[in-house]
Amino acid sequence: MAVKHFTEEMLSRYVDGDISKGERINIESHLKICKKCREIVSQFRQLNNIIHKLPVENVSESVRLRIFKKVKKRNLIRDFIIGFFLGLSIAFVMFMFFSKGIFFPKNKPMAQQIDSFKVVPVNENINH
Ligand SMILES: [Zn+2]
Repeated sequence: MAVKHFTEEMLSRYVDGDISKGERINIESHLKICKKCREIVSQFRQLNNIIHKLPVENVSESVRLRIFKKVKKRNLIRDFIIGFFLGLSIAFVMFMFFSKGIFFPKNKPMAQQIDSFKVVPVNENINH
């Protein structure tokens, strides 16, 4: 069974302490085993620190939401880039696999190639 992750909204509320005790216990036990959700939580914590360091005393909720959305969008772009390069490398491996005739000539079987290595014995080279 696949691991059920918490939503970013839920984790964001956890960071803000805006959550019930039962939910907090659930999330904390999940965070112990899940690196992915831990990373999201630490991102939200960093974000909170940045917001607290802003010169404005009270950052309005709409500004906060906008920043959260921006971070989320940036994560989507990052995921897209990772996915793109992963797809590209899989395509490359597939290409290498199906087109190996281009890189390794078909007309010479592997056994013959190995035989041609045996033509020059190692001892002969040493005696010269
Ligand atoms: Zn998780």
